[in-house]
Amino acid sequence: MTLVFLNARIFDGISRDLQDGWVVRVEGDRIAAAGPDVVVPDDATRIDCAGKVLMPGLIDAHVHVVANSVDLSADRQWPSFVHTQARHIMEGMLDRGFTTVRDCGGADAGLVRAVAEGWIKGPRLNISGLALSQTGGHGDMRSVFTPPGQAGPHRVGSMIGRVCNGVAEIREAARDELRKGADFVKIMASGGAASVTDPIDNTQFSAEELRAVVEEAVAWNTYVCAHAYTPRAIRAVMAAGVRTIEHGNLIDADTATLMADTGTWLCPTLVASDILTQFADRYGFSDVSMRKIAHVCERGLESIRIARAAGVPMGFGTDLLGIELHHYQGREFTLRARAEDPVDTLLSATGLNARMMMMDGQVGTVTAGALADLLVVDGDPTTDPDLFTHHGAPLDVILKDGVFHKNRLAD
Ligand code: ZN
Ligand code: ZN
Repeated sequence: MTLVFLNARIFDGISRDLQDGWVVRVEGDRIAAAGPDVVVPDDATRIDCAGKVLMPGLIDAHVHVVANSVDLSADRQWPSFVHTQARHIMEGMLDRGFTTVRDCGGADAGLVRAVAEGWIKGPRLNISGLALSQTGGHGDMRSVFTPPGQAGPHRVGSMIGRVCNGVAEIREAARDELRKGADFVKIMASGGAASVTDPIDNTQFSAEELRAVVEEAVAWNTYVCAHAYTPRAIRAVMAAGVRTIEHGNLIDADTATLMADTGTWLCPTLVASDILTQFADRYGFSDVSMRKIAHVCERGLESIRIARAAGVPMGFGTDLLGIELHHYQGREFTLRARAEDPVDTLLSATGLNARMMMMDGQVGTVTAGALADLLVVDGDPTTDPDLFTHHGAPLDVILKDGVFHKNRLAD
């Protein structure tokens, strides 16, 4: 089937300016042509966008679709219940205009397939499988009463992570997640907020372990993505060749300069800590976690300013936990607008995220050959960051893989 979008102003995911006078032609699941001189076949289905903005589907590069609870301990819930709630979370993401998400711990290849085959109406998943954590690291949320060595059948430390120690084990864990269908490797390289046993400012994994896991990922033609908050943790993973730094809230100017010089990506996630500080009481977050969250939340906006000033390449993520709290996914745009131009956030959430995820040319841009993931927005997302906070209400069209998830422009 051929679809043609007419009379749209186009944000292409690459340029800061909207393009007028462009036509976008979709054939099957791909964009066949986009530009001023596009042929419109007689039998094409025409969508009149009436001057509204056509843009690529949004990409969220840091989610946990199985994070149905703020408590990520592995042994509290039935897997069937978690996956049913994951489906609900993913459907919400697509309703909000996110057509691709990068899962940084927890989603497996079964969920990827369920979306690809249409069993779940959700965003395309790009996954790490389980995140790799050292014993006592951010992915190790076992009870403190768990004896050493007892980590469940697959050395699982939480719903989002598995435990491995030493060069041999981290290599095996990385190879095992890649074998099971991971697109990239996620490691926990510093303390975190949702885990109660690790301080936020420690480093996790040794230099040898970090080098080994990067070697495994590169051998598989992919990359390592690292959870890290502090300059010390960021420098440790950068030295090993990690491609993307998650969160980075406590970054300083010198470390940001080093990231810019080495082309290391930052994927900030402001909304998770922002929302948890507002709703912590209701969800029973521990006092230990709350103190850590307040600390990283305070520094979130400053980290964006520091990274932008240094010229660090930046993606866009959210990292929300808890089934109701995923509702606030679009608030990340509002928060980032307090520290940067909304068009920069939009570029991060489209073309730049795709490049960060090594999916350049596939998603995130309105260019010929890319997958046909498109939104028509009633409003200008390059200047209004709040458009995405209304759970998809201003979106007239959500097209994914050339198929309408929503279309209010049909006659
Ligand atoms: Zn993290
Ligand atoms: Zn995360």
